[in-house]
Amino acid sequence: MDFILASNNKKKLAEMQRILSPLGINVVTAKMLGRELTDVVEDGETFEENARIKAVSACEEMKMPAIADDSGLCVDYLDGAPGIYSARFSGGHGDDEANNALLLKKLEGVPMERRTAYYVCAICCVFPDGREITVRGECHGHIGFERDGNEGFGYDPLFVYEGKAFGRYTAQEKDRISHRGNALRKLTDELEKII
Ligand code: IMP
Repeated sequence: MDFILASNNKKKLAEMQRILSPLGINVVTAKMLGRELTDVVEDGETFEENARIKAVSACEEMKMPAIADDSGLCVDYLDGAPGIYSARFSGGHGDDEANNALLLKKLEGVPMERRTAYYVCAICCVFPDGREITVRGECHGHIGFERDGNEGFGYDPLFVYEGKAFGRYTAQEKDRISHRGNALRKLTDELEKII
């Protein structure tokens, strides 16, 4: 069964393909089908709502099962910010360096025990017959005092899990513990029940 991924992000595509192919699911992007998805306004208030907005739109447009995710970092000291605004925390979209600099600045002088944070990943799957699955994975850690490591992306150099920054975990290690890995495992459990 082919699923359309509501993103052209190659890393996400590879990750989804790796995890869903054992279920007989072939994940493709619109680009791979010679199409382009209409940009949707992600105006949901939660990760789940934003993932659903993207999946519903892709499913309606392509008339095939669609899958979308939405993820980000929630910092307890900042009342859950940047949250759904993680990619554009510092203004421009996806400027990891500026986002990390701003996060460090906002946590200046905040002691270790108050730097707790967690990553969230919501994944939504929508079928043309109206069935829907939404799952959520989390990964809890804290924000370090300086950047560490070159692996991963986004806030990974600052996110410390069990004494080591995500920036130092290999992709395989990260898969086993990450919010996205946890959400994808839940999704496979749910999909196995219905396909
Ligand atoms: P999106 O779900 O692809 O829009 O990602 C939202 C933003 O959350 C990214 O641009 C990153 O800033 C942050 N983010 C989400 N997942 C991760 C992760 O696994 N590592 C680091 N940053 C992440």
